[in-house]
Amino acid sequence: MSRVKLLDREFELSIPEEKLLKAVDKVAEQMNKDLEGKNPLMVCVLNGSFMFASDLMKRLTIPCEISFVKLSSYSGTGSTGKVKELIGLNEDIAGRTIVLLEDIVDTGLTIINTVEQVKQMGPADVKVATMLFKPDACKRDVKLDYVGMDIPNDFIVGYGLDYDGYGRNLKDIYTVVE
Ligand code: 5GP
Repeated sequence: MSRVKLLDREFELSIPEEKLLKAVDKVAEQMNKDLEGKNPLMVCVLNGSFMFASDLMKRLTIPCEISFVKLSSYSGTGSTGKVKELIGLNEDIAGRTIVLLEDIVDTGLTIINTVEQVKQMGPADVKVATMLFKPDACKRDVKLDYVGMDIPNDFIVGYGLDYDGYGRNLKDIYTVVE
């Protein structure tokens, strides 16, 4: 399928599944090396990260756990204007190594805010793994420990990412046709 239509927009194939899975292989290999003996808790930030988390977990050979969290749509006011509350992290994470699993880092706002909230729960370390990173969109100083691949600053769908709820099921990534 080289093109898909979701609602009112057309998308064209931009990253095939094989390339995505090679990127996941690389991330898993790095994690298997540097998280050995750390018994990390992988924290999958829903919804978009479910496919990345699934493919990654299948490739991890170190002892680890996984938990699933969401960011509320509630907006309070903070220094950034919008604060999304992390919900669903019910484990005691004090003293643990946490690895946040993100689908995509765009402006970086979401991940910076999420890391801050996790840090307040007293973990030993918080690492960030993102499947995709848009370096041209991210002007903030974000520490990304694991990046699947860098991508251009275009709107994409597939591999867990949606357009108004649709397209999450696509195994490849598609870019919007302007
Ligand atoms: P940030 O806070 O880094 O700007 O944005 C992160 C969130 O925005 C992601 O978790 C994702 O939900 C959404 N997002 C950013 N870029 C894209 C994109 O190209 N496609 C889709 N479907 N969502 C995106």
